[in-house]
Amino acid sequence: MAGTTPYDRWIKGRLDARVDVVVPPVGHRSWWLEQALLADPGEPCPALVGDTAADVCIAGGGFAGLWTAYELTERAPGIDVVLIEAGVCGAGGSGANGGLFSCSWHVLGTLCHFFGEEAGVHYAQVLADQVDDLDAWVARHEARIDLHHEGILYAQAGEWQDPPDAEGRAILARHGLSERFSVVDAAEARRFADSPRFVGGAFTPDLATVQPAKLARELRRVLLERGVRIYEGTPLLDLLPGRPATVVTPAGRVRADQVVYTVGAWAAGHPHWRRAFAVGVDYMVVTEPMPGRLREIGWTTHVGIADLRYMLLYLRRTDDDRIAIGGGGMGAVRGGDIDGEGRVACRARASDHLAAVAAENLVWLFPQLEGVRFDAAWSGPMDVDRAGIPFFFTAPSGNLHAGLGFSGHGLTPTKAGGKTLASLALCADDEWAHLPVVGPPLTLVPPEPLRRPMVQTISRLMETGDRRAQQGRPRGVVRDTAQRVFDAYCAVRPRA
Ligand SMILES: Cc1cc2nc3c(=O)[nH]c(=O)nc-3n(C[C@H](O)[C@H](O)[C@H](O)COP(=O)(O)OP(=O)(O)OC[C@H]3O[C@@H](n4cnc5c(N)ncnc54)[C@H](O)[C@@H]3O)c2cc1C
Repeated sequence: MAGTTPYDRWIKGRLDARVDVVVPPVGHRSWWLEQALLADPGEPCPALVGDTAADVCIAGGGFAGLWTAYELTERAPGIDVVLIEAGVCGAGGSGANGGLFSCSWHVLGTLCHFFGEEAGVHYAQVLADQVDDLDAWVARHEARIDLHHEGILYAQAGEWQDPPDAEGRAILARHGLSERFSVVDAAEARRFADSPRFVGGAFTPDLATVQPAKLARELRRVLLERGVRIYEGTPLLDLLPGRPATVVTPAGRVRADQVVYTVGAWAAGHPHWRRAFAVGVDYMVVTEPMPGRLREIGWTTHVGIADLRYMLLYLRRTDDDRIAIGGGGMGAVRGGDIDGEGRVACRARASDHLAAVAAENLVWLFPQLEGVRFDAAWSGPMDVDRAGIPFFFTAPSGNLHAGLGFSGHGLTPTKAGGKTLASLALCADDEWAHLPVVGPPLTLVPPEPLRRPMVQTISRLMETGDRRAQQGRPRGVVRDTAQRVFDAYCAVRPRA
């Protein structure tokens, strides 16, 4: 930085200083879920005891399962739906995430690579449409989820970061959609929030921020109002195929014509899905309330921000004037190593240092926030598909369906996915049943015991590579080579 004014010189001093943060221990539950349950614990949903029957049984009370139940009741009023959830609704990634209810324009190149250009653009448009759809849903159900539909800045926080998806932008231009993902220069980027690191980026209006656990709990409320029977503390232990199929839980069984399996990262513990995805663990932290400091950095709107480093950072404001930030690295665990509340069951395998990585990176992005207090840290599990694309699969029996592989950006895909899974369960031959994501997993991941160490090593190399680059040091030959090999591996199309 040139350092011409006292403010510039002060910022320059902060940029050069070592970032020092104190982060609370990684909590058992996400801060979002704690807050949501405190504000409104909702009607009790005791565990299933005894046997019952239903038209559809859904296993998993995250967004995928909840939206599926919602769509079923929307399209087939009077349908008898049972939803069983191992912990409480929102206990998994759905209650722990960044709350960036995002389109996929920034990964359009990847979608088109796997699906072809027409289908890739169509699917990205479907996801973008979910953001408007959420506005309407919130208004219709008077849902209190702290929704702000104001878009997101994908910020290039230094020349060492790649500019936003050039391939995707060329595709958007060909389809007359350039305004959905428009390039901004440094000055424009800094108008959203004044980070001296920003050298440019891209803005899309197709993103809303939400309080994710409140969204999960409000969905639960609406479903209960519609007569869906929700049993919390009720894990699926076994699934016996047949017509009807039988879902076995610790103290009862559900006989259902159709079963929808949406247990997220936990599915990796099931032999059928053990090659479908890796289990990643992302970490988040939230600051103290700081309305004055937000004004100081000029972050006065609810535009979300992502920093385009290899291990993406994502940050957003909360309604009580905090910043929540996550990413910058990713932990990895074996399928069975997450407990009922979504935490890494074996503490020795946790990557809790990643909460500090997110916190340090907040102060790195905004040196003006030096000394800020962090009030909470948490982690959540993710079903990480190699291409980052979910899949919706129906078993040959025709009455068992799964929606998995939402990776680190499942908020809009689970909403669209609820429509797809509802179509599959209702045997509807509509547009939702024919999206390009319907079918077996697009890619496979290596088996254990190779997978976890591989994912862990790559993540660690990319995380430290980003850190070296932000310190002005070379990433190093090993990291550059690992990145090239990994990117090429992720782009392989086994189904092509
Ligand atoms: C820290 C973090 C930040 C993220 N940030 C974002 C973001 O900003 N934007 C975005 O789009 N995505 C984000 N994601 C990803 C997003 O949260 C997920 O893709 C999405 O929530 C997946 O929803 P799901 O319903 O498939 O899974 P989950 O929410 O994990 O739900 C699965 C549910 O199944 C339950 N379950 C497990 N086993 C059983 C069983 N045997 N029987 C019954 N129930 C069972 C679990 O308790 C859980 O409630 C983030 C994820 C994490 C962890």
